[in-house]
Amino acid sequence: MPIPATASPASCDALVIGAGVAGLFCATALADAGLRVCVLEARAEPGGRARSWFDARMAMEIDIGPHVVSSEHVNFLRMLERLGSADRIAWQPDPLLTLLDAGELLAAASVRWTPPLHGLPNIPVALRRMSLADALSHWRLSWQAARVSESGLRALDTQDAASWLRSLQVSERAIDWFWRSALLAMLNVPLEQCSAAAAMRIFRLMQGRSGYHFGFPTVGLSQMYVPQCIAAIRARGGEVRTQAAVRTLDVQDGIVRGAHLRDGSAVRAPWCVVAIAPWNVAPLLARTREARLAPLQQAATRFIGAPYTSSYLALDRRLGEQRFWARVWNPQDLNTDFYDLAKIRPAVTGGGSLIACNAIGPNAHLEWSDAQVIDRTLVELEEFAPSAGATRVLAARVHRIRAAIPQPRPGTEALRPSHRTAVGGLLLAGDWTDTSVPCSMESAARSAALAAGAVLGQQLALPAPETYGLVGLLRERSPATARKPCA
Ligand SMILES: Cc1cc2nc3c(=O)[nH]c(=O)nc-3n(C[C@H](O)[C@H](O)[C@H](O)COP(=O)(O)OP(=O)(O)OC[C@H]3O[C@@H](n4cnc5c(N)ncnc54)[C@H](O)[C@@H]3O)c2cc1C
Repeated sequence: MPIPATASPASCDALVIGAGVAGLFCATALADAGLRVCVLEARAEPGGRARSWFDARMAMEIDIGPHVVSSEHVNFLRMLERLGSADRIAWQPDPLLTLLDAGELLAAASVRWTPPLHGLPNIPVALRRMSLADALSHWRLSWQAARVSESGLRALDTQDAASWLRSLQVSERAIDWFWRSALLAMLNVPLEQCSAAAAMRIFRLMQGRSGYHFGFPTVGLSQMYVPQCIAAIRARGGEVRTQAAVRTLDVQDGIVRGAHLRDGSAVRAPWCVVAIAPWNVAPLLARTREARLAPLQQAATRFIGAPYTSSYLALDRRLGEQRFWARVWNPQDLNTDFYDLAKIRPAVTGGGSLIACNAIGPNAHLEWSDAQVIDRTLVELEEFAPSAGATRVLAARVHRIRAAIPQPRPGTEALRPSHRTAVGGLLLAGDWTDTSVPCSMESAARSAALAAGAVLGQQLALPAPETYGLVGLLRERSPATARKPCA
């Protein structure tokens, strides 16, 4: 969504660098508090890694790649409420998730029973794919997960998830069937390259919280929040400027004074929020050459983005009634998750399915041609719905994203930086910062609330999710658990 270029003001109350979810949400929160905010975005359009645009070939607004929202995206959903677009999420009715495994569709349910009892309805599903001994091999892990707190799990960050699961004697079958699928879909890395702390964070919440459900944007990703945020920022005299890459920060005597743009101009502000991905933070700070920021610059270099190949296929017929399904992990696979946008987006007209899907991490095959990606996707669709074999592809689009989401490699959980920095007036936001939430739109939204709250001297961020029910009770009673609430 290109927006008309305007000159940025030479000074403002707060400068936000980056117009992704984190930058726009932070700027909106600051504008709502009456500040005149200037947002500088390097690209021609805002939205960052959660953006969409009109695609003439597909004749519709399509996303960089399909995104899901979950009931745990509480900070993200609160901002959508504020922007008046919370109704642009279509929530998934039961089942929670349909899994395609060895040609069979398995339905995973989500019930609101007291944790961990909410897991019971899915045990028969799991037992169709692994033995009782495999399922029970989780008991040591479950015990540890029930008692560990967010702060306690961080001690696991030095280990990789595969060694950690094996050290707790989780069976190889359970590792291959459950863990490889879950971590690739949710954390975008193979087990061997995943921090045990990141894996534990996911598992303890799966075990200790119930009623989890998914929602899908019914409009293009940008349409959910970008124009609404821009309107809110402008209403308070602020501006969102595109094609305005920041080259260096202006830091004097340990205090930020503003930023210098690549085009030679400068913006001055007493507050500056850097809301860009770690692979952009590292070169920005290297050019800034401020000794106080050297540790942060070093930390940012350690974050590597997980690659994604996201494809859109307009088909000449409907594939079935499902609007969302996923494949159980298989190293030969291309795609992990599939969406039929014809069942999600009212703007999709015509009689056929519009399939969107994501190929993640080691399965992304960035080197494949479009034809290879489309052919393989059709094979995977036929395994889901045999009628796909007779379908015709009317139009297709393949997006290769080299760095979609920061990989939670061992050691990186400890490196996720606070929203506060060693420089006065300088704050950080972005999915990769220390939010106690996996890198996602929710992490970006929570980081925005943390940074805006620091500027305003208020507590704006909703807390990160915590376990409850019988599992929460075990955590609270555990002597080993540090009971510090999350920031
Ligand atoms: C294909 C794909 C699928 C995903 N699926 C999901 C999902 O299902 N659910 C979910 O919650 N999340 C998902 N994500 C992750 C989610 O999109 C990101 O976590 C989130 O959008 C990150 O927002 P951010 O604001 O932190 O960073 P970004 O979106 O990266 O925003 C940073 C902005 O800063 C700009 N910038 C960089 N350098 C400069 C500079 N020097 N000067 C000015 N501007 C600069 C960039 O151009 C960018 O617009 C997915 C991401 C992708 C790519």
